[in-house]
Amino acid sequence: MQKIALITGGGRGIGAAIAEKLGKAGFVTWVNYSKSAEAAEAVCVRIREAGGTAFPIQADVGVYADIQKMFDEIESKTGPVDVLVNNAGIEIRMPATDYPEEIYDKMMNINLKGAYFCTQRALRTMKEKKWGRVINISSVHEERPTANRGIYSMTKAGMWQMTREHAKEYAMYGITVNSVAPGAIRTDLNRKVLEDPAYEEMVLRNIPAKFIAEPNDIAGVVLFLTTEDARYVNGAGITVDGGLSLN
Ligand code: NAP
Repeated sequence: MQKIALITGGGRGIGAAIAEKLGKAGFVTWVNYSKSAEAAEAVCVRIREAGGTAFPIQADVGVYADIQKMFDEIESKTGPVDVLVNNAGIEIRMPATDYPEEIYDKMMNINLKGAYFCTQRALRTMKEKKWGRVINISSVHEERPTANRGIYSMTKAGMWQMTREHAKEYAMYGITVNSVAPGAIRTDLNRKVLEDPAYEEMVLRNIPAKFIAEPNDIAGVVLFLTTEDARYVNGAGITVDGGLSLN
C-alpha cells in the first residue's frame, strides 16, 4: 500500500526538493502551495514523469479553515496523510523596534500556528493507523540568535519544542516527530541578501564547509526520516548546516 505524503510549501525551494524526493521514492505526494500554483504543478509533473503520483493543493497554512479544507480533500481523495512535512515558512527581517503587529502575526501564523494545526490533523489519523512521520523544517535560528530575525527565530524555537512535545506524546502510536534544522540553503528566501557579495562572504566565513547548500541537501535527510531505518529516531533535531552551529 502506497503511503501518502503532504509537504507544505512544496512548490518552491526546500519544499519542492523534498516533494520531488518523496514523490520519486514512491509516496503519493500532495504538494501544498499558497500562491505558487504553477511551481507546485511543475513539481507534480516532474514526479509523474518519473512514474510517481502527485497532486498540487492550495491552502494558506496561516489560515485555520484552509488547513481543515486541505486535509478534508486529501483524506477524501487518497486517504489520510502518513508523512507530514511542515516546510512552509517565511522570514521577514527587520530591527526588533520596527516590527509591526501584522508582520508578527503573519510570521507566527504561517511558521508556527500553521505547522501546529497541520500536525494536529495528521496526528489524529496517524494515531488510528498506528504509524506516522512528522518532519518539521526548523532552522539553526531556533537556537542561534542573529540580528533582525527575532520573530523568525521565535517561531523556529517554538517549532523545536513542539517537535519534542509531540514526539513524546505520540511515540506509543508508532509515530515519530523530528525536526530538520537547515543552515544556509540557496532559495528565494535568502536570494536577495546573498546577491550582496559582502553579505555572502560574511555568511561563508561562518560555515566550516565553506559553501551554501542546495535544497536537495535537506531532502535526502527528510527521506531518511520517513524510512523504517529511522523508526527509532524520535524527538531529534538534525542540523544540516555545514558546521555553522559549531561556531
Ligand atoms: P522559499 O524558497 O521562500 O519557499 C517558501 C515556501 O513556503 C514556498 O513554497 C511558499 O509557497 C511556502 N509558503 C509561504 N507562505 C505560505 C503559506 N501561507 N501557506 C503555504 N505555503 C506557504 O523558502 P525555503 O528556503 O525553501 O524555506 C522552506 C523552509 O525552510 C522554511 O520553513 C524556512 O524557514 C526553512 N529554512 C530555510 C533556510 C534557507 O537557508 N533557505 C534555512 C533554514 C530554514 P507559495 O510560494 O505558494 O506561497
